[in-house]
Amino acid sequence: MNILIFGPNGSGKGTQGAVVQKKYGIPHIETGVIFRQNISKKTPLGEKAKAFIDRGELVPDDITIPMILDRLKEDDAKKGWLLDGFPRNLAQAEALWKALESEKIELDYVIEIDLDRDSAKKRIMGRRLCKMDNNHPNNIYIDAIKPHEHEGKTVCRVCNCEDLTTRADDQDAAAIDKRHGIYYDTKTGTLAAVNYFKERTKIVSVDGRVGVKEVSEALLKQLS
Ligand code: AMP
Repeated sequence: MNILIFGPNGSGKGTQGAVVQKKYGIPHIETGVIFRQNISKKTPLGEKAKAFIDRGELVPDDITIPMILDRLKEDDAKKGWLLDGFPRNLAQAEALWKALESEKIELDYVIEIDLDRDSAKKRIMGRRLCKMDNNHPNNIYIDAIKPHEHEGKTVCRVCNCEDLTTRADDQDAAAIDKRHGIYYDTKTGTLAAVNYFKERTKIVSVDGRVGVKEVSEALLKQLS
């Protein structure tokens, strides 16, 4: 099973990706993770990519495309793959499609988690971390997981602990806007890549506005 998964930052793509990976038992190949591993190991690839990543820009295609096409040739990917974070623009989509065609590899599904830009931004900026447990999701903008108010204080909705915190990069509106600018660009950006596949293969589109469980259910219903 060969699958691509798309969704803006803040859409819950990582969580849903894990659900899909579990269903099929295929490797979850995330470009961002590969870059970060290379940066921490200080490999030549990591050294080249670091400056772009630090600026919130895409790593150039001549570095990213061969890296991913090579990764798809590794042994564990023979049984299939879930590709996450690639393609991120139209040029990468075209290169991937060409490579798949020439290797006669079928693309089974393209998953799109659909979420408007404003909601995606709120999802990120509203995220609150529970001091006791990061698996206690709280978000001041999502009713289903809104932190509770207790004696005038905002507390974790699961364990009632005080002092919910934010992640610094979640509060960086300019960085979020930059990433979303690339994602929502329908001319050459990530949505242009999604539209490219819409004309060529099966798209499974799910509404990302609902809760995590509902998105998973909608997704699994459409995947055979
Ligand atoms: P992510 O963890 O997916 O948000 O990726 C982190 C960073 O890695 C991005 O902000 C980009 O700088 C870089 N990156 C990830 N995927 C790609 C890609 N397909 N093309 C170019 N750069 C990428």
